[in-house]
Amino acid sequence: MAALIECSDLVKIYSGEGVEVQALQGLTLAVESGELTAIVGASGSGKSTLLSILTGLETPTAGRAMVAGHDLLAMTPRQRVKYRAKAVGFVWQQTARNLLPYLTATQNIAMPLAILPGSSRHRTQRVADLVELLGIGDFKDRRPAELSGGQQQRVAIAVALANEPSVLFADEPTGELDEVNSQRVFDALGAVNRDLGVTVLIVTHDEDVSSQVRRTVQIRDGRLSTEVHRSTGLDEFGAVSHHSQEFVVIDKVGRLQLPQDYVRTLGLSDLVRVELADNHAEVHPNRPEEAVE
Ligand code: ADP
Ligand code: MG
Repeated sequence: MAALIECSDLVKIYSGEGVEVQALQGLTLAVESGELTAIVGASGSGKSTLLSILTGLETPTAGRAMVAGHDLLAMTPRQRVKYRAKAVGFVWQQTARNLLPYLTATQNIAMPLAILPGSSRHRTQRVADLVELLGIGDFKDRRPAELSGGQQQRVAIAVALANEPSVLFADEPTGELDEVNSQRVFDALGAVNRDLGVTVLIVTHDEDVSSQVRRTVQIRDGRLSTEVHRSTGLDEFGAVSHHSQEFVVIDKVGRLQLPQDYVRTLGLSDLVRVELADNHAEVHPNRPEEAVE
């Protein structure tokens, strides 16, 4: 089966006033259904651009982007509106951007349900389920201005999930929060992934958050550079052990980007010597003294 989110050679160029910015430069990424994935990367590396494309806010310049069977390069404006309302949910960093200020928490959650067909009993039940899952009960009748940033983000997650999307995107949802509130919001995203089976893609610069997910992908210069996969298992003595393994992405023509610290440590530049060994390949610095054996 194809992955739920699939991008290949994705390019996004912003052009205006004679300057062009290539925000994504051929990004390839696949996320399976049910995964909880963190995207990390320096400011300006293209994380928000990727999320804007995947949520249907921006159209890609070239490449391929599929989410839950929707082709984001081939959608009509009408299909795009429907896609945004039903197929995906999103939470932004700016807490104020996620909620309507004049509605209470539960009214905000019910809002996306109001525009779709469905019985009012179903709607009421859905809101109640989300209030419980996200631990909103204590403040469900308050307006956003009467909520802390962390509480607002939990309500925002509930709003994003109201229409039962298969994917939830969150762009630095904990960016404006302190450590305790960040952890609560992150726990809420984990619960959503685990209990509802929603696929969650979260952009974060928070190392604590990225170290708690199984898969972290790093974007550099509008491309995927490295991935870290973590797993927890029991060792031979029955103790819990954590493993993490780093991967780099290789594209269709065989290009890959070495981790920056390898390049620095080995002083790699311009040309490197590559060798095929039994079951792996080796990359060597191209220094004259090492070429002579
Ligand atoms: P990140 O979220 O990783 O910080 P962004 O995706 O916001 O990165 O930005 C990637 C690059 O694209 C940056 O150089 C940024 O200035 C540029 N960019 C983002 N949005 C726009 C836009 N609407 N118009 C022009 N340039 C943009
Ligand atoms: Mg951003």
